[in-house]
Amino acid sequence: GKTKPRWQRVLLKVSGEALAGDGTQNIDPKLTMSIAREIASMSRLGIEIAMVVGGGNFFRGANWAGASGLDRASADHIGMMATVMNAIFLQASLESVGVPTRVQTAYRMAEVAEPYIRRRAMRHLEKGRVVIFGAGTGNPFFTTDTAAALRAAEINAQVVLKATNVEGVYDCDPRKNSCARLLDHVSYRQVAAMGLNVMDLTAITLCQENSIPVVVFDLNKPGNISKALSGDRIGTLVDH
Ligand code: UDP
Repeated sequence: GKTKPRWQRVLLKVSGEALAGDGTQNIDPKLTMSIAREIASMSRLGIEIAMVVGGGNFFRGANWAGASGLDRASADHIGMMATVMNAIFLQASLESVGVPTRVQTAYRMAEVAEPYIRRRAMRHLEKGRVVIFGAGTGNPFFTTDTAAALRAAEINAQVVLKATNVEGVYDCDPRKNSCARLLDHVSYRQVAAMGLNVMDLTAITLCQENSIPVVVFDLNKPGNISKALSGDRIGTLVDH
């Protein structure tokens, strides 16, 4: 018979910044369609897919705090709304390829999306719907990586798959050091001790405390999302 996919339920984090692709717009529709098609084929294999999407392609709170009297909390509220824009775009892309999808937001935007209700999210997943969590954690001073770790723990996802603009985790910054090495595996402790650029420490700690492995991989390479969703070893694995 067919081999069973490795993961039954995953949390796929898509960085906002990566959604811009190399185009000049905030969102590259060719990229979102290719993401949607890969998710569709994996969802049809029965993998339950929850997503958290970032907002960095539109707005990052920390970069704007202080500008024009904007305090950090207000700037972060704008950042969280940026993630909802991406969530709705991705929902449309997914539904256009036939995948039933729900967006749930961490704070109420009831005319636009469902509010986050944990048990309801899990019910959607059981029914084969992709659930996209928008507005991060709903709290300023956090990141969507932390939202990904938090939601993964809440819904009992087996892994956080972090789709981003880099191939994985390097031992030092590849933009500054030509000798930077791509790491196949790192432990949670090494991430903290070496200051590796994987996720912020709040997110990593949450994954560590709940024994949720993280796979960091490049979203731009066609096929990578399918590989990550089916449990192939790509990018960098972070675990104990
Ligand atoms: N944000 C927040 N709380 C959260 C998640 C996100 O305040 O729980 C805000 C924050 O301003 C952040 C922005 O939303 O800069 C966009 O999210 P993020 O930077 O994590 O997106 P990504 O790096 O994935 O594009």
